[in-house]
This record gives sequence, structure tokens and C-alpha cells, in this order.
Amino acid sequence: MRIGFVLRPLLRRCMPPLLLGLLGGSGCDAVDPEPQDLPDAGTPLAYTVDRYDQTFDLTTREATSRLWLDVEGAREGCLSLPAPEGVTDVRWQGAPAASTRTEEGTLEVCGRSVVDGPLWIESRRVVPETTYLYTQVGFSRRPDLHGDLFSYLLGWVESCDLLGPCDDAPARLAHFTFDVTHAPGQVVLCPGSLSRPDETHTRCELLGTRAPTYSAFMVASHPAWKRTRLVDSEVARVELYEVPGGLLGPALDAAAVEDFLGWMTARFGPLPYGHELRVAGAPTEWLGMEHPANIILRDNLPLLPKDYANMTLHTLMHEVVHQWAGNRTTLASARDYPWKEAVAEYLTYVYEDEHRGTDAASTLAYWDRLARTSSFYLRPGDVPAPPFISFVNDVYGTGPMILLLQLESLVGRPQVLSALQSFLAEPGAQSIEDLRTALEGASGVGLQRYFETWVDGAGEPDWPFFQVEWREEEALVLTVTQRTVAGRVYPCVVELELQGETGEQRQRVTVSYGLEPLSATVHATVPLPPWPVRAVTVDPGNRLVNRRIPLFLWEPPASGLALGLKGPVEGDAVDGDELEQRSVRFREGR
Ligand SMILES: [Zn+2]
Repeated sequence: MRIGFVLRPLLRRCMPPLLLGLLGGSGCDAVDPEPQDLPDAGTPLAYTVDRYDQTFDLTTREATSRLWLDVEGAREGCLSLPAPEGVTDVRWQGAPAASTRTEEGTLEVCGRSVVDGPLWIESRRVVPETTYLYTQVGFSRRPDLHGDLFSYLLGWVESCDLLGPCDDAPARLAHFTFDVTHAPGQVVLCPGSLSRPDETHTRCELLGTRAPTYSAFMVASHPAWKRTRLVDSEVARVELYEVPGGLLGPALDAAAVEDFLGWMTARFGPLPYGHELRVAGAPTEWLGMEHPANIILRDNLPLLPKDYANMTLHTLMHEVVHQWAGNRTTLASARDYPWKEAVAEYLTYVYEDEHRGTDAASTLAYWDRLARTSSFYLRPGDVPAPPFISFVNDVYGTGPMILLLQLESLVGRPQVLSALQSFLAEPGAQSIEDLRTALEGASGVGLQRYFETWVDGAGEPDWPFFQVEWREEEALVLTVTQRTVAGRVYPCVVELELQGETGEQRQRVTVSYGLEPLSATVHATVPLPPWPVRAVTVDPGNRLVNRRIPLFLWEPPASGLALGLKGPVEGDAVDGDELEQRSVRFREGR
């Protein structure tokens, strides 16, 4: 149904005679139990979904949905709702809709409201047992190591409309209820507060703090989950759902989980979705996923390679942060995905740095390793835009390092934390640009140049390589030069480790380009160490996104193109010992 003519917006409920004739209406205030009779036209209605009431039968996969909509202006017309194929029995305020059509991922439903108050749209669908996007998004049943089936209805960023009618815009926050029908033995989790009215029904209500559709569309179920209490304190009650013999419980230090929850709530307020936080282990592809009041963790986390020093605790803490950063405060758009992961990683790191000994160093080393192989800038200007799934997998190193960690060195950790407190203070949607504003507000300095160089760009990221020269006089004179393909000069602080003959002869110094560098080269003078400097390592603590090997540069020679290794530039060597200078550079390659 497309608009042949535009129906007058009707702000009153008694319609003028002409329009009544057109609509086949019967007067004022009458509820029409028959299919509504609208002409082949309708006003496109702007709406926001205030609440989703979902039912789902885990056995038959039958789902119903009731969307409560705030509609401005007209009380009749047509709605375009993102929705999958196969939606049936569409009803408009309880009566069959005048017309419905599904096309290219949109359910167009037309009707007329005859009852005051919000509009609700109901529909049915059998959710297919299938997944999308090379992920577990969709509905899946997968056996765990014992052969028991884990069932997972999983939405994601811009993906809830794969499951049913749903506004998949990341910025939308809504209320939700879930009524899940299941076999008597099933243990079922869903978002918000959870109750089990009887053996075959589980109900969840998320009617306080609103949640985004990307994370709230979730039902998870397992027949063998047993509940144990991990934390029971004034900050939270954490319930662990795991099969007998599961690996997560033994791997989790309950005192550390409790301490981290206290650390988070002291800075960002109470858990947004209630005192109870449910953590479940399951055979998932992702390491973890943040659903409101629920966290699903991959059940074999303790067996995975130790990218983080403690894979299980780090992943759990990361998902806990998302209760505030991603859920209560959500993404303004899908392009803003990097800040959500950056904040979850960064706050986990800060806690590790303050309370977990050497765990933080492993986290930084992993970020740095990821960042060096990143394919996109955090706000890529590539045309066409990078595939979303590739983009989001690319940000776990560059995101926390560029958006937050590197700024610790430039403006201070207290300022970065203060910025995050204001950034996450209110429920709503935030962008990377909003994060910049919050960081500027907390630090009192302008970060436009920093974001333009580090965050914006197209194509393969042109991360800098740092070349260091030194000479020993009364003091140690260091000369640091950034090398980039395009000549971009990055605002940053570079940490250097001076090394002598023995392993004990090490000393760290920092050299700052500031926030508005004028040159790719900076000089610094530091006191001479009590031993001769034999080598200098750039970024020994993995705090700066940088190349570890000299650039391979395409340089246009007199004719044609030549690929060459950018060696020491003539005049760069300051102490005349070319061999030693080269040895420094090769030390950077690791
Ligand atoms: Zn995350």
C-alpha cells in the first residue's frame, strides 16, 4: 500500500462525514471487530516503540509480539516496522489490521485507532531455527559437552528484526516483557526481573530502566543448569547458572567479582537492571554477551588461550561494564559501536591495573597486538563502508587504546574516568563524538586534532612508526621521529625504555608530542642513566598504537614505482654509529 493521496491527520476521534465514508467508519468511539477497511492509501506514521511484550514457546518456536507504540499526530495511517518474513495475524489495537505487507525487511501495516491511548500492534511468527551474519544471532539449539541442548534466541546491533517486528535502531531504548513456555525441566533466562509462575512458564519484566533492542531480545535455556550464588552483598546478588562440573564457577574468584561490582557501582551507580545479575555458562561463539540483568559466558573460557591473564574474570568484568555502557547508555548509531567496547575493555583494565597485579599488562599487550593488525579506523570514512561484522571485530584493540588509554597519557586517568562518569550518567544514546565532548569537558582541553588524526580516516590505518636517536652529552638527548605513509602527525605520548648492557639496566622515560604537534620530530633531554645506553625500546608498556617495524613505503622514483624499506634518513644518525642505530631499529621488530 503506497500513498495515492494523503489522508488528513486526524487529531479528533469523530471524523468528518466525507472521511467516514472513505474509511467505512461507523462513527465515534466504536471498536470495530472486523478487519478495518482503509482505502489503498495511508499516512505514514512516525512512531517510537515504548514496549515489547513477547511470548515464545521454546519447543514449537511459536512467538507472539505486542508492540506498544507512541505515535505522533494522526491516529490512522500506515506504519513501517522492521520485521522478518513470515509475520502473520497482524492486529491493530486488537482488530485485524486494514492491510499488511512484508517487503524487503519491512512490515507495512495500516489501520485506524479507535481506542484512546497508545497504539499496539500484535503479530505471530514461528521463529526459524537458524542463525545469521556468521554468528549465533537468531535462534539456535546447540549441544554442550554433555550433549544437552542449549537454546538461545539472540538479537544484536541492528538485528532484532531478524526475530520479529522490532525497531532495530541502536539508539532506541524500550521496556520489555517475555513470557516463555518451555518443557518442565528447562531453566530459562530472559532480560529484567525473572519469575517462574509454574514449571512450564518463565516470565521476565524489564519495566524500569529501559534497554536497547540489540541486547534485550534474548531467551536462553538449558535443561541442566544449576544455580549457585556467586555474590550476595549490598551491591549485587550474582547467580551463576552452570551445568554440574562446569568450568566457570571454579575459575571465578567470587571475592574479585564482588569487589569489581563494588568498584563499578561506586563510580557509576547501582546495577541498572536490578540487584540480581544472572551469569550463565553456555556453548556460545562469542566469549560473552551482555543482556540486561544477564550475562552469557562461553562455557570453556578457562580453557582458551590466555589472551587476557584471566580469560573468565576479564570477560565477566567486561560484560558487567556493558550493563551501564551499551545497555543503559546505548549507541547513537551502529557506527558508534567502538565506544561501547572501548569503555568495557578500558574500565576492566583500570580495575586490573589497580587491583589485579600483572593482569593489566597482559590486557595492554593483547590490545596492542590487535591494534597493530587493525584494518579500519574507528570512524572509517571508507566508501563503501566496511562490512559491519568485520568492523566490529576490528575495534577491540584500537577502541580502548585510542579512545581512552592513550588519553590517560595526555590528559590523565582521573580526567578520563571523570569523563566516562558524565558520559554514562544518564540513560540514553551516545556517540563517539559525545565521548570526545565528555573527555574535553573533564580535561579542559580540545581533542579535535586528536580525534581527526587517530579516529577518522579511510583505508588501511596509517599508524606511526617511531624512530629514536640519542646521544650522550651532559644529559641524554633523545630525538623521536614519527614516520607515516601520508605524513600524518599523531598527538601522543611515547614511552621509551632505555637499555644498558645488562637486563637490570633499564629505565623508562616519556616523550610527548602534545595534543597539537607541529612537527613529526620531538627532542627530549633526560638525565644520563648511570650506565651507557645501548638500545631504546619504543612503547615497552603497550600503551600506544604504533608500528613495530619500519614502514614499507611506496615512493615514486624518477620513473615508475619502487617498493623500498625506509631506512635511516641521511643526517638522522646523531652519534655516527650507524650500525648501532640500525640495531636499535631491529629491536623494535617483535
Ligand atoms: Zn563487549
